[in-house]
Amino acid sequence: MARPKNIVVTGANRGIGLELVKQLITKFNPDNIFATYRDPENSKDLLQLASQNGNLHAVILDVRDTDKYADFVTNVESTTQGAGINLLINNSGFFNKENNTSLSQLDKADLMYHFEINTLAPMMLTKAFLPLLEKGSKANGSQPLGIGRAAVLQVSTNMGSIGDNTSGGAYGYRISKTALNQASKNMSLDLLPKGILVIPLHPGWVKTDMGGSNALITTEECVTGILSVLENLNEDTNGHFMRFDGKEALW
Ligand code: NDP
Repeated sequence: MARPKNIVVTGANRGIGLELVKQLITKFNPDNIFATYRDPENSKDLLQLASQNGNLHAVILDVRDTDKYADFVTNVESTTQGAGINLLINNSGFFNKENNTSLSQLDKADLMYHFEINTLAPMMLTKAFLPLLEKGSKANGSQPLGIGRAAVLQVSTNMGSIGDNTSGGAYGYRISKTALNQASKNMSLDLLPKGILVIPLHPGWVKTDMGGSNALITTEECVTGILSVLENLNEDTNGHFMRFDGKEALW
């Protein structure tokens, strides 16, 4: 089984991100997992988990603070002692359900806020971690391409799908994730020669603060599926828009 030794996950204090951290630890027992959060007050579960697992490092990061990325990378580099990273999961996301639902409600600042978190941050953080992803891939060059070498998971949504859009609305969220999908596809082509795979992924409609209580699946079901997709990630699925259940999503 391919095993990512060093992992970075954003937005890991609640919802899908917190469950990702839990299952990544159980399944892969990574050497290091760096899990970001913003506010200790709503991150108690993550901080408690970190106090119980020496390989889990909770790191404060607001993904809008791109000027803090270099320090984060330096921190990861020194802890991993030159091993690089094998898996970057850009999970942090924002969906303003109160606004931006119809054209008449469009607000420029709100649109920009969605873009900052859902598009620019995953792009810029991937750029920042590129040297460590390359190191991770090179250091494990005898392994097949995938999470045993280096991979980036961009947590997207089928609401970013153009082909699957039958209900309109939610402009900021939809278009920022559509842009993320294009960026992910681009990266998958640009980074393949460096031995780094990239996929955007729809995690399902998940019972979290964002997904709400009517959602169809639990975080446990969602993340079990995501980890299976990651385990099976290879050159054939590189750059494909995947779903948590292993099927392909519609672009
Ligand atoms: P939640 O709302 O439960 O959690 C969102 C996470 O993103 C939190 O950890 C939050 O941190 C973090 N976040 C938000 N803004 C920032 C920021 N500026 N900097 C750093 N972190 C930030 O959402 P989910 O767990 O449901 O969603 C996770 C991902 O899955 C998102 O990308 C979302 O778009 C995607 N998704 C979710 C679906 C669902 O049904 N739940 C469906 C499709 C996609 P904080 O606590 O500090 O706010």
